[in-house]
Amino acid sequence: MSAVYETVIGLEVHVQLLTEEKLFCSDKAEFGALPNTRVCPVCLGLPGALPVLNGQAVDLALRAALALGCEVHETSVFARKNYFYPDLPKGYQITQFELPLATDGSVTVTTDEGERTVRVRRIHMEEDAGKLLHDRVPDQTAVDLNRAGVPLVEIVTEPDLESPAEARAFLVELKQILGYLDVSDCNMEEGSLRVDANVSIRPVGATELGTKTEVKNLNSFSAVAKAIVVEVERQEALLSAGEPVIQQTLLWDEVVGTVRPMRTKEESHDYRYFPEPDLPPLRLDRARIDAARTSLPELPAARRRRFVEQYGLPVYDAGVLTASRATADFFEALADAGTVAKAASNWVMGPLMELANQRGVEVSVLPVTAEGVAELLALVADGTISHGSGKDVLALMTESDRSAAEIVEVEGVVQVADEGLLEGWIHEVIAAHPDEARRYREGEDKLLGFFVGRVMRASQGKADPRRVNGLLRTRL
Ligand code: ADP
Ligand code: MG
Repeated sequence: MSAVYETVIGLEVHVQLLTEEKLFCSDKAEFGALPNTRVCPVCLGLPGALPVLNGQAVDLALRAALALGCEVHETSVFARKNYFYPDLPKGYQITQFELPLATDGSVTVTTDEGERTVRVRRIHMEEDAGKLLHDRVPDQTAVDLNRAGVPLVEIVTEPDLESPAEARAFLVELKQILGYLDVSDCNMEEGSLRVDANVSIRPVGATELGTKTEVKNLNSFSAVAKAIVVEVERQEALLSAGEPVIQQTLLWDEVVGTVRPMRTKEESHDYRYFPEPDLPPLRLDRARIDAARTSLPELPAARRRRFVEQYGLPVYDAGVLTASRATADFFEALADAGTVAKAASNWVMGPLMELANQRGVEVSVLPVTAEGVAELLALVADGTISHGSGKDVLALMTESDRSAAEIVEVEGVVQVADEGLLEGWIHEVIAAHPDEARRYREGEDKLLGFFVGRVMRASQGKADPRRVNGLLRTRL
């Protein structure tokens, strides 16, 4: 980026709350149902149908607000945001406007550039709109209203982010926090997290903000970062040429890698907000707010710090292990069951995550318990089996409910440290490769690895590689 201009970014993030039902009716809020099968008079906006607020949605929004350090208001008010669009059957969206649920929070993010505290301006509750489908009916647009009325929170930051990397780090942190709270699954592909990025630039050191644009249609965290880079370059080119940046909404085109102006909706800024007459103000007494605060779990940032302090883990490990609460729990159970912390960390970040990725699940979902894995790692630690066999045994453990000890016994993977057996394999291998043996003796040291490999193969992986190494050196 330029040395003349600095970048200013503010994010608006819509997050779908993990409720069973919609925000104002009892239709299921699930993703993926057949189009228009999760609708009723309330979310279709039929005359006379009245909204009733979903208490579970309020609880989740409240937890999110508190976890982001916001001040939660004892009274917040739902409002109608009026506009015409085919995905909005009522002709208005129920949202919160002048008196939102919560304001003035913050999230601290860390990047290579350092730490930054990003202020959260507000969090409010609102309902989602339906979804236009452009590819179902040839030459026509269809609408699926299953999503209409699904509960969201909108999280709005102050323009405190200064680079695409920081924007991305903010989103990663936010997703982790909301995941810890079970507030949302933040799945961008399914639309349960949507981000609009507001971007401006200004001369380095300027105190006033430049004119911003709002970039939409961002389908992944990397799209957010890429789109910001592209938009900043576009604005720099304009200002450098003495042309102004025009305040507008832009759409990110992932395929072409550019932004283009969005067709402006008519009167899009005249939403004629007014308080929703069919819903009373949302009142949360202090006791409910305080109880929600007390029930918050340890959050990712605190847990990262604790993992470094309590377990002496590298910052990197702490970051990987705490990315999801369930994985962090698994690691802690492993360490509590007696596995040395760094070994537990290596096994979770390595073999366990590999097995989990193969199945497209999290480590905690693998059909092994932390206690069972701890038992296996004890066998590796005391040399009963090698590290390599340990990985094989682990894989077998995920395929049946046999314990590590049973598998080791039945499969005969016990590590061979018996000198007689080792000598036998070594003798065979040296005899079979006289050429390599001569070259090794003449000084080609790196051939030792070749011999170790052959012996391991001859032993079907059961030889203790450290012993093999030592014995080979003397025999050769
Ligand atoms: P609007 O009235 O267009 O909705 P707001 O001032 O309410 O604009 O801010 C909406 C979002 O845009 C917020 O996330 C805010 O941080 C961000 N924002 C506001 N001004 C700027 C700016 N000059 N550059 C970058 N982001 C900005
Ligand atoms: Mg806005």
